[in-house]
Amino acid sequence: MNPNDNEELNAIREGVRALCAEFDAAYWRRIDEQKGFPETFVKALTDAGWLSAMIPEEYGGSGLGLAEASVILEEVNRCGGNSGTVHGQMYNMFTLLRHGSEAQKSFYLPKLASGELRLQSMGVTEPTTGTDTTKIKTTAIKRGDKYVINGQKVWISRIQHSDLMILLARTTPLAEVKKKSEGMSIFLVDLREAIGNGLTVQPIANMVNHETNELFFDNLELPLDSLIGEEGKGFKYILDGLNAERTLIAAECIGDGRWFIEKASAYARDRVVFGRPIGQNQGVQFPIPEAHIEIEAADLMRWRACEEYDSGKNAGASANMAKYLAAKASWEAANACLQTHGGFGFACEYDVERKFRETRLYQVAPISTNLILSYVAEHLLELPRSF
Ligand SMILES: Cc1cc2nc3c(=O)[nH]c(=O)nc-3n(C[C@H](O)[C@H](O)[C@H](O)COP(=O)(O)OP(=O)(O)OC[C@H]3O[C@@H](n4cnc5c(N)ncnc54)[C@H](O)[C@@H]3O)c2cc1C
Repeated sequence: MNPNDNEELNAIREGVRALCAEFDAAYWRRIDEQKGFPETFVKALTDAGWLSAMIPEEYGGSGLGLAEASVILEEVNRCGGNSGTVHGQMYNMFTLLRHGSEAQKSFYLPKLASGELRLQSMGVTEPTTGTDTTKIKTTAIKRGDKYVINGQKVWISRIQHSDLMILLARTTPLAEVKKKSEGMSIFLVDLREAIGNGLTVQPIANMVNHETNELFFDNLELPLDSLIGEEGKGFKYILDGLNAERTLIAAECIGDGRWFIEKASAYARDRVVFGRPIGQNQGVQFPIPEAHIEIEAADLMRWRACEEYDSGKNAGASANMAKYLAAKASWEAANACLQTHGGFGFACEYDVERKFRETRLYQVAPISTNLILSYVAEHLLELPRSF
């Protein structure tokens, strides 16, 4: 099967494209200039059911696989939009779906599917520990019928546009666990109740128009039933959802890459300097096919990850490699596109500089390129563990 020529996937592509056509380049440019949030777009995508693609039908979603979901986010970026504004809603629910109690699932999932509630945020990263997640210092201590949360998180996205947040906190001190990955737990935080009652949110101005924040927990009280799954197993639960998340991010980068390649090709055909189209010069031309080849190669790995995930196999290696290849390829495509546009690449009205900033993020977050390299080194090549 060629997933790029598959009837069902093509129908999804067309559906998402039709919706995205209502949110043109001027819309995204305006949102970026105003450092705003694309609320109308997010609502339209939610109402059309695209964001609930992977929620099972019994909970009101479409019950689709990762392949279908990846096409949705790819197309948002390929059409010039920024799926970083919505992707959390698609994948943050994995922890709930896989490890939540039946009561949690039947209460929350239908509301997430309909868009009544948003679960756009996941709080893992901390300022003093960064990538070294098992050293997180945010604690959740059981006191009576509450968990009391204290600590700090950083770079937690879309808090102002979410009702709920998945939170990773330590329930058993590091010194008291056998393995450092043990003793952390996952909580579902109702942000509407938490903000102002033990949770303070401080937005972080950043290079991309990505709504992201520092969080301060000062005796935030959570009901006991906000715990997801078993206490102490939260780190494992988070890891469980990452293969899907990485594959979806790879698809977003592929969408970006295709947008850059189309944009660069069109400009290289049309722009005439020295009496000929600039694309006739191989120095201008070659970086564009080079980027195309790399995006297509990354796409093959993305489909391998989707196929493995959707058939219940371990997609860890493919998902990580797809994310690595796609994030790198989209960045190369962004560079080629900007260079092709010369000075106009820097003008906001061409949208290249905006997409250039947006796609750069994916080599750092949600997982940095180095961490993928160390995963491959350790898990696939049996090299010594470096940390
Ligand atoms: C815009 C944005 C949105 C984000 N959204 C979220 C979110 O919603 N939720 C959330 O929890 N987090 C979020 N993050 C955090 C993101 O996942 C982290 O920034 C990322 O994982 C890197 O962590 P760090 O910034 O602390 O870098 P550090 O851990 O300080 O690392 C800095 C650099 O050193 C490298 N490095 C560190 N240790 C090693 C090593 N042992 N070997 C090789 N290289 C190493 C890293 O790869 C990185 O390039 C977001 C970040 C950004 C920028």
